Amino acid sequence: MNSASTRSADVVVVGAGLAGLTAADQLTRAGYDVVVVEGRDRVGGRIRKAEIAGVSVDAGATWVAPGHTAVRDLASRLGCEFVPQFRPGKGVISFGGRRKTDGITALAPWVMLDLWRIMSGLQKMVDGLPVSSPWEHPHAARHDSMSLGEWLTAEHALKDTRKFLNVFSLVHWGAPVGEVSLFNVMRYIKNLGGIEHMLAVEGGDQQDRVLGTTYTLVSRLADTLGSRVLVDSPVERITTVGERVTVETGKHTIEAQYVIVTASPAHRSTIEFTPALPERHYGLSRSWRLGALSKAFVAYDRPFWRDEGLSGEGVSDDETVFLTFDVSPAADGPGILMVFCDGRGFDAYDKDERRRRVVRHLVHLYGEPARHIIDYTDFSWGNDVFAPGGPNPAVGTKAWTTFGPFLREPVGLVHWAGTETADETSGTMNGAILSGQRAATEVAARLASTSHDLSVVG
Ligand SMILES: Cc1cc2nc3c(=O)[nH]c(=O)nc-3n(C[C@H](O)[C@H](O)[C@H](O)COP(=O)(O)OP(=O)(O)OC[C@H]3O[C@@H](n4cnc5c(N)ncnc54)[C@H](O)[C@@H]3O)c2cc1C
Repeated sequence: MNSASTRSADVVVVGAGLAGLTAADQLTRAGYDVVVVEGRDRVGGRIRKAEIAGVSVDAGATWVAPGHTAVRDLASRLGCEFVPQFRPGKGVISFGGRRKTDGITALAPWVMLDLWRIMSGLQKMVDGLPVSSPWEHPHAARHDSMSLGEWLTAEHALKDTRKFLNVFSLVHWGAPVGEVSLFNVMRYIKNLGGIEHMLAVEGGDQQDRVLGTTYTLVSRLADTLGSRVLVDSPVERITTVGERVTVETGKHTIEAQYVIVTASPAHRSTIEFTPALPERHYGLSRSWRLGALSKAFVAYDRPFWRDEGLSGEGVSDDETVFLTFDVSPAADGPGILMVFCDGRGFDAYDKDERRRRVVRHLVHLYGEPARHIIDYTDFSWGNDVFAPGGPNPAVGTKAWTTFGPFLREPVGLVHWAGTETADETSGTMNGAILSGQRAATEVAARLASTSHDLSVVG
């Protein structure tokens, strides 16, 4: 259904990421007429697949924690299975160009102590933080007035502790410690179940991957919605007149009773709302900008690092490569390393230069055999045409306390979903699903009360 059209529906959902597809799925199964409009030429949003050496890999979201039951339930309904993240062996760490095996435990004992001091300090500050209304925390203003980097300085964190926290910050928010509010970090830690959980593979956030890719999950979900999903249709305008809302793309005009916008908060303001949203919604949109995290995949004949007892887990302060993981499909090959890259040392270069930088650093981490690649692919999220950015918003100082209350407060007939609006596991696929379910429930309740009112009148 991609030809120009004018039509009506009960609900329009903007965005065919996991949040939008979930909301549409729930409403459709409840018997409502739903249309999903997606700006990109594909579904999935921040879930995207790539191919390397004949293997499908996750260019966007990858891992599922044991407690991410919303993803697990959906996967089981759609017939998707999980594989554990490979991890036997030793990790590699390289700070300041000094490569060591034994992963994080290779750090000097005084650094380990300092790291423990800083992480448990952070964790303690998080206790008692109300995730759904964090701005009510008694020290919200103070913690929201400094960046994670400023807090580390105030705490006299050692250089290597800071480097480790920088890797933590890059992988979660796509931004270095100086660009993320301490309060945002605290809220995120709380909503994900603690720092240890965030760092862990077994029992933690990196435990499992979807067999094939997570794209299988979203594409199967989209298939159940069939022609209700319109791709290549960026929403330009949302106009409310009385009890009806009209959603316009270049190709489609859809009139509905409600709209659920699942675009990341940073991209809400690319839509022209009439009447205009209350002004702090625009401040929210400006402050919730996405960070910049990119991914490269490098393939070898075999996962040769395993022969040396290495797990493929690498941590580094290199300006391009800061984290690696082994995502090889089997021990006999191909061997595939998933490489997290800092958008600042990656996105500005052309693909040849990006590959050169990645491979050069893999040679540093894994030795000469890492030079002999059989395939390479990457995805530069910072250069994504439709909605540029990284995994999550790098929310800066004073943003949560100023604009947080507007994240998911409905405005008239407009409701909001998307992982950023979730109270639990926000920033993950699980949070995206929970947010889609919550928004669908809100809208279904209003639809039910409208039809009740009509039947009373009738
Ligand atoms: C590199 C990377 C790694 C990640 N790793 C993990 C991981 O390991 N585990 C995990 O759980 N999560 C991970 N995430 C996060 C996860 O991908 C997201 O939390 C989740 O997919 C968000 O889903 P969503 O539906 O809320 O938002 P999105 O996926 O961003 O969907 C929003 C959709 O709205 C569309 N849209 C925006 N504006 C408009 C408009 N005007 N008109 C029409 N459509 C519009 C967008 O194109 C997009 O498709 C990662 C993300 C990235 C980028």
